[in-house]
Amino acid sequence: MSEENTNRPSDFIREIVAADIEAGKHKKIVTRFPPEPNGYLHIGHAKSICLNFGIALEQNGECHLRFDDTNPEKEEVEYIDSIIEDVKWLGFKWGAKEYYASDYFDQLYDYAVELIKKGKAYVDSQSAEEMRLNRGTLTEPGKASPYRERSVEENLDLLDRMKNGEFEEGSHVLRAKIDLASPNINLRDPVIYRIRKVHHHRTGDKWCIYPMYDYTHCISDAIEGITHSVCTLEFEDHRPLYDWVLDELKTPCHPQQIEFARLNLSYTIMSKRKLLALVKNGVVDGWDDPRMPTISGLRRRGVTPDALRDFCDRIGVAKRDSMVDMALLEHCIREDLNERAPRAMAVLRPLKITIENYPDGQIEEFEAQNHPLYPERGTHKICFSREIYVEQDDFMETPVKGFHRLTPGKEVRLRYAYIVQCTGVVKDPETGEVTEVRCVYDPETKGGNTPDGRKIKGTIHWVSAAKCARAELRIYDRLFSVENPEADKEKEFLEFINPESLTILKNCPVELSVSEAEPGTKFQFERQGYFCSDSKDSKPDGLVFNRIIGLRDSWAKASGK
Ligand code: ATP
Ligand code: MG
Repeated sequence: MSEENTNRPSDFIREIVAADIEAGKHKKIVTRFPPEPNGYLHIGHAKSICLNFGIALEQNGECHLRFDDTNPEKEEVEYIDSIIEDVKWLGFKWGAKEYYASDYFDQLYDYAVELIKKGKAYVDSQSAEEMRLNRGTLTEPGKASPYRERSVEENLDLLDRMKNGEFEEGSHVLRAKIDLASPNINLRDPVIYRIRKVHHHRTGDKWCIYPMYDYTHCISDAIEGITHSVCTLEFEDHRPLYDWVLDELKTPCHPQQIEFARLNLSYTIMSKRKLLALVKNGVVDGWDDPRMPTISGLRRRGVTPDALRDFCDRIGVAKRDSMVDMALLEHCIREDLNERAPRAMAVLRPLKITIENYPDGQIEEFEAQNHPLYPERGTHKICFSREIYVEQDDFMETPVKGFHRLTPGKEVRLRYAYIVQCTGVVKDPETGEVTEVRCVYDPETKGGNTPDGRKIKGTIHWVSAAKCARAELRIYDRLFSVENPEADKEKEFLEFINPESLTILKNCPVELSVSEAEPGTKFQFERQGYFCSDSKDSKPDGLVFNRIIGLRDSWAKASGK
């Protein structure tokens, strides 16, 4: 990724960073990507990753990977492993700069003691309900807790005993003493520690109190010497608290929090909680289901890191929330695959063709281009025989106007092979359905030549019945059938699942050249789209391909856009 050739325009955050460098405010830029390990990363996280790691790369700085693991109940080692894999796969490196907020629990505790000593924090023993009632509203100030004026000694003693596990969960919390009348509710004495008697995957049973996110995050940033703490807009109202904590504690540095608009993408959802619900309810086949907007899902589907980074560059970074059209992501995916994917042929819904004048048992080989734009990528062999398969769609017994493919009496070109003419059909005597189409071929048209210059309007793809492999093809559509599945106030997002998001086609004929594809190999199956051999389910004796994306945007037409 050193050869940067991107569509990335500058943005307001890059401008702030550049100005800080220019002004000599920092010698080295340090950013961080701080996921909470309570789910798999999604494409929204990819935006944040590209931004944080991207800025560090451009400025010769560093970007830390920091796990915000202050919420032990919801966190799992599986998530940490997946996050590491995903960020690496996107192409970013952090070397030894892998941190865990839980590594700072001791320091965070010491800082809490310091706040108490300064008279800036107190142990509150109201119930959660009382605290909520006394917090006030947007128009009314909060009411002081009867415990707000506890002495420093009493507060220190209580915090120590909270830490030692002497109290039940919910009986006490530690609150910052800021301003109960603040119009910003985040400053009305926010809770900074609570009692949670749960096991932590890194610190074990050492702690029965855990620091809250807002308190932890700013201090973790300061401990690591972060210069620019980039986060999403919903933290804008938390920034005064971020600054208050660091100012009160006189930490060695005071990172600048900068907010940007999170990525919202149409026809999908981004919240980890909701994605987990899809997994738990069995709507999808795990976090890496190829329909999921997760990085692991996109990877399994066959999307490349280049396509995702290109997408993140194109959407840019702004301060206002908006919805990005899924079609833009799909466009980036297509553009990337068009360049890289070798071509091959596969038939999704096979219809058998018998070429009556072609010798039974004869197999001919043709050279097919690996990539029409890049002849230097060479060719591969495809086999031709008396019986072949074409798409059911490519035949019409009674053609509609403008149909130029296979139809009785007419000629069509078989890609790379011969021109054939349809001479008749065989039908199922009971259903009347066409089960086979009979053709004759013209030996003079080998390789698709038309020696006498006759006009052949249609060219169709095909696969030899005698020499082919069979594959399961999984055809995906958007996971939700509406643009914003979260917009409806009455209905749950789960009600908008697209019932046709997955179609499984079994036993599809595919050309032999793709049968040895390693898991994750991508192809363009001509006229059908880009496919990737499934990394989990594809085996040499049971090929499985995921359709990454069709060749054109079929939604634009269907939705009349
Ligand atoms: P979710 O709401 O999906 O659970 P989160 O914000 O709670 O996400 P974190 O693990 O806390 O998830 O996020 C890590 C980083 O990624 C944060 O800095 C967060 O702001 C950023 N991030 C999360 N979602 C998006 C998004 N949709 N677009 C851009 N950045 C995001
Ligand atoms: Mg979060």
